[in-house]
Amino acid sequence: MALRVGVVGGGQLARMMIAPAVELGVDLRVLAEEEGMAASLAASAVGDYRDADTVLAFAREVDVVTFDHEHVPQDVLSVLVQAGVRVHPGPDALRFAQDKLVMRARLAELGMPQPDWAAVTTAEELQAFLDDHGGRAVVKTPRGGYDGKGVRVVSAATEADDWFATLAEDARGGALLVEELVDFSRELAQQVARRPSGDVAVYPVVETVQRGGVCAEVIAPAPHAGDRLREVAAEIGVAIAQGLEVTGMLAVELFETTDERLLVNELAMRPHNSGHWTQDGAVTSQFEQHLRAVLDLPLGDAASREPWSVMINILGGPAEGGLDARFAAAMAEHPDAKVHTYGKAPRPGRKVGHVTVAGDDLDDVAYRARAAASVFLD
Ligand code: ADP
Repeated sequence: MALRVGVVGGGQLARMMIAPAVELGVDLRVLAEEEGMAASLAASAVGDYRDADTVLAFAREVDVVTFDHEHVPQDVLSVLVQAGVRVHPGPDALRFAQDKLVMRARLAELGMPQPDWAAVTTAEELQAFLDDHGGRAVVKTPRGGYDGKGVRVVSAATEADDWFATLAEDARGGALLVEELVDFSRELAQQVARRPSGDVAVYPVVETVQRGGVCAEVIAPAPHAGDRLREVAAEIGVAIAQGLEVTGMLAVELFETTDERLLVNELAMRPHNSGHWTQDGAVTSQFEQHLRAVLDLPLGDAASREPWSVMINILGGPAEGGLDARFAAAMAEHPDAKVHTYGKAPRPGRKVGHVTVAGDDLDDVAYRARAAASVFLD
């Protein structure tokens, strides 16, 4: 009988696990938040991932549970583990991807390079950090942020008053994370897959280009990356995967500083936007690899298939007519481009798809990828 993987969350990451699951002969089930989501093709259930009974009933039908996002609460995860469900990544790993303060504290214990940081509960504490760091810093809400929401550059403690007020209303209390404003030359991402039995597969480090806090482009491998940079990035990725006992795909977002250090920004324990290029540019895509890892099957080769791959996110899409109307034009003009769409309605800024082109010459590959993606925009 086919192995069954249950994915909690019906977004585009779950959607992109469907094709490799079919190819591997893995039976993929999805617990979607609502009807008509990106992964609705494989949605065997629709329900609230914050409800333990709902998630447990879904989990009982599969061999292993994994995730499209990191928002499933710890108490729900505990119910699964206590019921004997295999959960990958497990709750003890996932909490480091759920809370940036918990992550910072653990990475400090592991000796990982990261920006100066502090947990602050009052405007006075934030001001003290600002005074010690040249008057500017980055304040983050520890939980629930994504695509730059919950991240704010401040130069006065009063600029975070609304967030402190929200903390004060929360019966659980808590703190904000404040970090030094890193003077980075670029952002990188290192992906690693890890099996429960411990084996790891290490992808090439990539460059990620963010616009307005949202990933816009990924270049694989990161251009001008010498052996030392690649080794250090890989060592950080493996050390975190092992130290946090991550199972499945791990993405480590990194800053490369102007003085050539790498600092850890944040972690994702699932397939990640920085790895979409692997569908068309690597021997084993991150989606196939995630399935293999959570099933504790031998991992695939994480090497690139082509010297360069460039992935461009389709952000927003056309104002009228949907993406389908642009398919024919994109295909006609760019037969070399691999177009992926998520079945989502276009909306300003929304990630509705991506385009990847792979080949020998970086400038040419980047030009063709950007041109193909632009067909889907106004
Ligand atoms: P999210 O969880 O929303 O993805 P991140 O913590 O990754 O938030 O921050 C979003 C973006 O904000 C980063 O990609 C980076 O461009 C910028 N950023 C975050 N932290 C810092 C920092 N300490 N110094 C400078 N820029 C930062």
